[in-house]
Amino acid sequence: MTDEPRGLPDDRAVSREILELALERKGAVRKCDACGSDKWIVSQSVFLLQALGEGGAVVPGQGVEVVPVFCNHCGLIRLHASTVLMKEE
Ligand SMILES: [Zn+2]
Repeated sequence: MTDEPRGLPDDRAVSREILELALERKGAVRKCDACGSDKWIVSQSVFLLQALGEGGAVVPGQGVEVVPVFCNHCGLIRLHASTVLMKEE
């Protein structure tokens, strides 16, 4: 048993659906640039594209949250900035 609040079992599926709808709304569902396939997989996790400072040091707080979208045929990965993708307009 744990005291931590637990999400619904389908939380991940729901958020993936929200991201897929956002991509459609923005007209961002097209054929893969590399192989021409139209089968995409939206990642279940938001990634952090981390900025590096001088000398390659990680700079906390300097980065972009991105939604990775994988081509299901060749593996090409597209990255969408999550704040821009989720904006209504
Ligand atoms: Zn591809």
